[in-house]
Amino acid sequence: MRVTVIIAAGGAGRRMGADRPKQLLDLGGRTILARSVGAFDAHPGVSDLVVVVPPDLNPRDAQGHIGPTMHPLTIVAGGRRRQDSVANAFASVDPSAEIVLIHDAARPFVSAEVIERTIDAAAAHGAAIAALEAHDTVKRVERHHYGALIVETIPRDTVFLAQTPQGFRREVLADAVALGRSGVEATDEAALAEQAGHPVHVVAGEPGNVKITTEEDLLAARRRVESSARVGTGYDLHRLEEGRALSIGGVTIESVRGAVAHSDGDVACHAAIDAMFGAAGLGDIGRHFPDTDPRWQGTSGVDLLKRAGGVLAGHRFEVANLDVTIVLESPKLSPHIEDMRTAMAAALGIDRTRVSLKAKTNEGVDAVGRGEAIAAHAVALLRLV
Ligand code: MG
Repeated sequence: MRVTVIIAAGGAGRRMGADRPKQLLDLGGRTILARSVGAFDAHPGVSDLVVVVPPDLNPRDAQGHIGPTMHPLTIVAGGRRRQDSVANAFASVDPSAEIVLIHDAARPFVSAEVIERTIDAAAAHGAAIAALEAHDTVKRVERHHYGALIVETIPRDTVFLAQTPQGFRREVLADAVALGRSGVEATDEAALAEQAGHPVHVVAGEPGNVKITTEEDLLAARRRVESSARVGTGYDLHRLEEGRALSIGGVTIESVRGAVAHSDGDVACHAAIDAMFGAAGLGDIGRHFPDTDPRWQGTSGVDLLKRAGGVLAGHRFEVANLDVTIVLESPKLSPHIEDMRTAMAAALGIDRTRVSLKAKTNEGVDAVGRGEAIAAHAVALLRLV
């Protein structure tokens, strides 16, 4: 069953007074948008993603705000209203998609369980949304210039607070989008589906699946992601031989000698990957990418690093920061350090200030000091998302 996810991130969202839409603000080293996309990208039930971005944001910048994904991703320009943005996105959904989910980019904490429930209910019933039961007593009011007056107390067991994702069989969403195009206005697609005559089921949302709207919401979200830290260390060494390429931290460096390896022998990336898997308690690089498997022979270190990031995302871990020390007698690495940081940070989809690389010699001592080998040590700090 092909499941396409539309992430609605087309809004200007300037209520927080920042210089950019709220979904592009930083939340612990990644944008709110990147986190929302990542939650679906890591879900085994999802096939591909369509992200609707503000029309004035160019697709390359948008991709930078999202970072790398494991699933195919299409970027679409948003419209004036939310329903216009979703209609634009729906137009680019592959016709073979059976289920389409729509999710607010401002809800970065959506859990795998809520995603699962929404997909299952949409498949079974045609339309379903995640929603929370109201625990507070609900009042309907009339607004006056002097304040609000209660008109009615609504039985709270008849009230649910809508969240996203909202899921639809393709043909149901097509009806909802068509109704929206005909001039009917609604704040979500479920409302359009209802008006188009489709029953919409409710599945249990989660209190943690909050929508980041105010500055206070953003502060609370930042506190939430900065907790639950895990640390790991990694080490790697490769022998050096004349006439081989030398790749370190995703950068190929001119050198008489290069690493002897099945892969590109990128010690910085390999040590970083071991540190990441170590922190997550997931073994080491050899367990996930064995060099006896032809799939991984010749694979670049940064590509493995990106894949390791994907494995961690599947376990709901992300890299808070990495610190790598490379030990090499020659050539000098200082001119390449910034390029390595950029390449490794891009592979992980995190800000480059979260990646540190340092180079040392071994003072002529041992095999590394004689120029017969290159080594790297790494420490990684992970957060549970
Ligand atoms: Mg290695």
